Amino acid sequence: METGISSCRAKDTTVIAIDGPAGSGKSTVARLTAHRLGFFLLDTGALYRALALHLMRHGITDSAGPVDPEVLNSVNLRVEPAVGAMQVFLDGEDVTADIRSEKVGDAASRYSSRPEVRHTLVGLQRDLGTRWNLVAEGRDMGSVVFPEAKVKIFLTADLEVRARRRYLELRDKGERPAFDDVLADMRDRDVRDETRSVSPLVQAWDATRLDTTDLTPDQVVEQIIQYIKESCADASPVS
Ligand code: C5P
Repeated sequence: METGISSCRAKDTTVIAIDGPAGSGKSTVARLTAHRLGFFLLDTGALYRALALHLMRHGITDSAGPVDPEVLNSVNLRVEPAVGAMQVFLDGEDVTADIRSEKVGDAASRYSSRPEVRHTLVGLQRDLGTRWNLVAEGRDMGSVVFPEAKVKIFLTADLEVRARRRYLELRDKGERPAFDDVLADMRDRDVRDETRSVSPLVQAWDATRLDTTDLTPDQVVEQIIQYIKESCADASPVS
């Protein structure tokens, strides 16, 4: 449980912001870090995925054009944060598993460049940050959503290594993708995330960069916990 990091509180809650590209290890590392701290995990990619599923269910297929505000505003999204995982409900239905498909992930990556889509979700994310201690992971946690967070981590890893991780993850799920396709898809997502005009994937100026290419998730978490202890040093250790 959290102890000794109260000096990193912004108002009543503490947010640890973790950003980085797909396959950099964010999800695993954020989950483990949340567990170590006794914080809730905010997986913001899951929110973009759930919103993409909502748009797909309403027949919106043109991710390049403006999204019908009526459809956007009708989204009924609820999250149940937990220490180990985050459940997502769309119109009351638990879609936590459904949003993990490549199809929904690809749609999320495309729609997330729309300013109106980002605007819809930023408010929800900030609201959660005022209510719970969070480890928030995504692409713009440190730069846009929680700029006041005192601990910001930016994870990176070589493209090939990130693609290999994603490839193994898909195989674990029983899928049989070609590695070259996974690599090409990851390269495309990087370009989209880094070049969109609204909230592109960038390292916040005050974030600490951590290259995970040759590190295990546990080693990354250890470094993050160490960094938190140093940045938020008051009396006792974190765990
Ligand atoms: O992290 P995950 O792959 O679940 O995210 C799905 C998509 O949502 C990403 O490809 C990214 O484009 C988008 N996303 C975003 N901003 C965030 C989190 C995710 O644009 N904070």
